[in-house]
Amino acid sequence: MVIVDVINPKDRKSPIRCSVCGLKYSLRDYKILYENKKLIYFYFKPKGKKRKKVICHDCLLKQLKKFYPRKERIRFQIKDGEDIYDCSFHAGDIDEFPDEFF
Ligand SMILES: [Zn+2]
Repeated sequence: MVIVDVINPKDRKSPIRCSVCGLKYSLRDYKILYENKKLIYFYFKPKGKKRKKVICHDCLLKQLKKFYPRKERIRFQIKDGEDIYDCSFHAGDIDEFPDEFF
């Protein structure tokens, strides 16, 4: 089971950038987007890697689909502070992700 950590803007001091697509926001802009539930960045540890990466929610779903190509319904957990949420999505809803990034 993949668990990702929500990056709360109040825990950060620097601009934030998705390590996959390069989408970047200042901390101030991310705070606004986060509070309006428009965009969430996560810490995500790819399988077999030691370091966590910053990833935007769009790229996260694409990555998960890549890791579980044969599953129709992909489940994962989102950790937000002390809270853990079970999430799932249909693989068919997500576009293919061709790059071998991680
Ligand atoms: Zn991204």
